[in-house]
Amino acid sequence: MESLSFDILFENNKEWIDEKLENDANYFKKLSKGQAPKYLMIGCSDSRVPITSLIKAEPGEVFIHRNIANQVNLNDINLLSVLEYSVNYLHVKHIVIIGHYNCGGIAAAVDGVDQGLIENWVAPVNELYHKHKEELEAITDNHAKCDRLSEINVVEQAHNIIKTPIMQRSFQAGHFPRVHALMFNIYTGEILPIDIQKNELVKNGFLPENY
Ligand SMILES: [Zn+2]
Repeated sequence: MESLSFDILFENNKEWIDEKLENDANYFKKLSKGQAPKYLMIGCSDSRVPITSLIKAEPGEVFIHRNIANQVNLNDINLLSVLEYSVNYLHVKHIVIIGHYNCGGIAAAVDGVDQGLIENWVAPVNELYHKHKEELEAITDNHAKCDRLSEINVVEQAHNIIKTPIMQRSFQAGHFPRVHALMFNIYTGEILPIDIQKNELVKNGFLPENY
């Protein structure tokens, strides 16, 4: 795929503005007033996973956080700030972790190749690999193995979100943003729902029975 030249960014931006104003002359006046998104979505930084484009979301509809391999790390002040703001101030209704197949971050965790800091960042994925080693090593195709780990990872990150004190306090206060896990199938373009296995969370007291 040919990369955009830098000058083209300004031309594209002008076209985008014209398209918006053609449909609604007050578009930017309205947009600048504030946001009330119903969704927080946490995805991978991968350039092939344009979260808002693939669900045809418009500006103002999705609050976004992205990092390599869509990690929810409880020491990540960046993610926690996004989560706290989404839950406590924006009152989002849905929190969606979206992973994707053919994820380089997941592959780096499996292969352990030297990619500098990425290796440190995806260390929790490497731990997940070892936790599910039996299932994963039975898969001989390396792509299929990584794709299965991506699914395991997205469920794990949904659990991590639910376990945060921010979410626990929100549940206690009677607010229940729904947490979902999705995979973006990069081979077909589809988004696929993945079961977050909430029974385990209910059993361990992280989710109320009626969630
Ligand atoms: Zn990725």
